[in-house]
Amino acid sequence: MKVYIFADMEGCTGIGCRGHVLKDQPEYPDGCKFMTDDINACIEGCFLGGADEVTVRDGHGSGMNLNPAEIDSRAKLFQGASRGMRYPEFEDTDALILLGYHAMAGTPAALLEHTYSSKSYQNLWLNGVKAGEALLDTAIAGEYGVPVIMVSGDDKTRAEVAGFMPGVPFCQVKTSSGLEKSDSLPFDQAHAMIADMAAGAVKHWREFQPLQFRYPVTLRVERIERAQREGLTGVHYPDPTDCRVYEKSGSNLEELFYELL
Ligand SMILES: [Zn+2]
Repeated sequence: MKVYIFADMEGCTGIGCRGHVLKDQPEYPDGCKFMTDDINACIEGCFLGGADEVTVRDGHGSGMNLNPAEIDSRAKLFQGASRGMRYPEFEDTDALILLGYHAMAGTPAALLEHTYSSKSYQNLWLNGVKAGEALLDTAIAGEYGVPVIMVSGDDKTRAEVAGFMPGVPFCQVKTSSGLEKSDSLPFDQAHAMIADMAAGAVKHWREFQPLQFRYPVTLRVERIERAQREGLTGVHYPDPTDCRVYEKSGSNLEELFYELL
């Protein structure tokens, strides 16, 4: 069976400040190392659990945070842009792991909270429900019939996902108390937990269901910038005096996502 690991950075063990996740900062190389170590623990667990194939998506920012030479060579690594696809090379995937996730924009006391871009978006809603990256990414995978079988991140992300993915194992590697305040588990302990939980999730992957929701699906976006988005067609503005908030309905969430964001 094939496991796909979509790896973000903010929720990885040891990541604790903006510097860890921003390329031009002195702390960034440490952040990349922390992300790499969580990924390798997860790959190890997937193979222990019985995976035949593991693909890793470098999913933070531009998708160029990992040194391929440092990633467990049993896994296939996808980096860089993916042109309108959230999960490049998703064919034949049986199960998805969301690794190193963070809470949605505006979550109180959450480490590095944001939704896709802290510069561009304040809020997103999926069918009227305020959604962070974990929900939207789970929903997009659901369109491919792929279930999420494990999530990792901080306690605030754990609370966020509990509502829409009950029963999906959450590997909590840290506890947050502010935008740049968190306590991570010791690295060895966190990596052992990631590997153990991934192995268990992969072993029982058939027990998980893809997320399904109502169609036509409606995606609403609240941008931060006041500049008007050009070139959007068929879009509804719920408040005619606010062009930062717009929504559109359609039969494919992933298409809407790349059209509206
Ligand atoms: Zn990120």
